[in-house]
Amino acid sequence: MKFSELGFEDQVIEALDAMGFEKPTPIQEQAIPAVMQNKDMIGVAQTGTGKTAAFVLPILNAICKRGSSDKVSTIIIVPTRELAMQIDQQVEGLSYFTEATSIAIYGGGDGKSFDAEKKALTTGADIVICTPGRFISHLNMGYFDTSGVKHFILDEADRMLDMGFNEDITKIADKLPKERQNLLFSATMPPKIRQLSNQLLKDPVTINIAISKPNEGILQAAYLVHNHQKIALIKDILKGKDHDYILVFSSRKVTVKEIVQALNKEGLPAKGIHSDLNQQQREEVLLDFKNKKIKLLIATDVLSRGIDIKGINLVINYDIPSDAEDYIHRIGRTARGDDTGVAITFINADDCYNFSKIEKLIDKEVHKLALPEGFDEGPKYDTSYKKPHRGGGGKKRFNKKQNWKPRKK
Ligand code: ADP
Ligand code: MG
Repeated sequence: MKFSELGFEDQVIEALDAMGFEKPTPIQEQAIPAVMQNKDMIGVAQTGTGKTAAFVLPILNAICKRGSSDKVSTIIIVPTRELAMQIDQQVEGLSYFTEATSIAIYGGGDGKSFDAEKKALTTGADIVICTPGRFISHLNMGYFDTSGVKHFILDEADRMLDMGFNEDITKIADKLPKERQNLLFSATMPPKIRQLSNQLLKDPVTINIAISKPNEGILQAAYLVHNHQKIALIKDILKGKDHDYILVFSSRKVTVKEIVQALNKEGLPAKGIHSDLNQQQREEVLLDFKNKKIKLLIATDVLSRGIDIKGINLVINYDIPSDAEDYIHRIGRTARGDDTGVAITFINADDCYNFSKIEKLIDKEVHKLALPEGFDEGPKYDTSYKKPHRGGGGKKRFNKKQNWKPRKK
């Protein structure tokens, strides 16, 4: 199928040409006609499959048709600041030849940015892309007129629920006009997404193109390794890889800091990104990595979903993500499109069982590599031992929410 068959206005087609988008991706092909018919929709497809344009294009088209108004018509709620900025950039690109205006609204900025956001909300940017907490702060101040809102979009809805934004989302939805279009996009379809959909969407069209399989271009391998061997192992792997772009994941921010420190001590210019950094620092690190100024980035799962960075050669999982699907998201950062890439995972004795769940999910046995010469023996791959969940008070190692501070209401 071609974009020209979808019935877009000329200004939208022009932008697609300028962006070099030749044909719609599968989710776009299915979602765009439904969104254009003003239907509610739930769209599930893996990260990197073009979900953003799947909702941005038909909405820009609608704005072209009815003309830009002095009220906000579209609210896009996203889980993180990084994603808000990224979507805003895509909107800017795709709306270049239209009258539509947009603004990204996210917490962490200073008073000045709050004022700029307030101005955009009161003078009516067409499209507002926002994180839930910050948007509620504006709503609570009472100056935002929601009466013009026609499209309400939840992007990365699974991530938002993981981060505890359910109530915030409901709160926002309650303030919007009843007659509106609701769109929900997600990389996965757990039961709680269905619940949210039942609660917010009216007779939604469901489009599900989720394939829980990593891209074929990713070469996956794993080491069985004790925790105390991990730093030495990562140094060994990084030897001679000066020209590669490498992303290392850990589910804990303390570990991210430890890795950065250890590598820096070794003279390796690694940077870390996690929720302890302030807004500006996070933006800088992310931009430097995108622009290839930094070649070695150590990150918590803040980066594993959604964020689109091209040209990563190697992903290292310093530990196993708590959610098997996050493994696919993490390694999906490499080998985007037709590229190839390598993903290496460190498995300690406690993680064997969880890794076996990942292997089941991807329906593939990941090759276990022998530790390099000079290393003591690592643990055996024993998947029968399931690490018990520790109760309150104990150190929870598999708590994916630990990097996120749910916003105070
Ligand atoms: P998702 O939200 O599904 O993770 P994105 O919307 O972020 O995916 O898109 C991933 C990348 O693919 C982006 O760089 C985007 O510009 C690009 N892209 C999206 N649609 C197309 C298309 N039809 N043709 C070419 N590139 C596209
Ligand atoms: Mg997306």
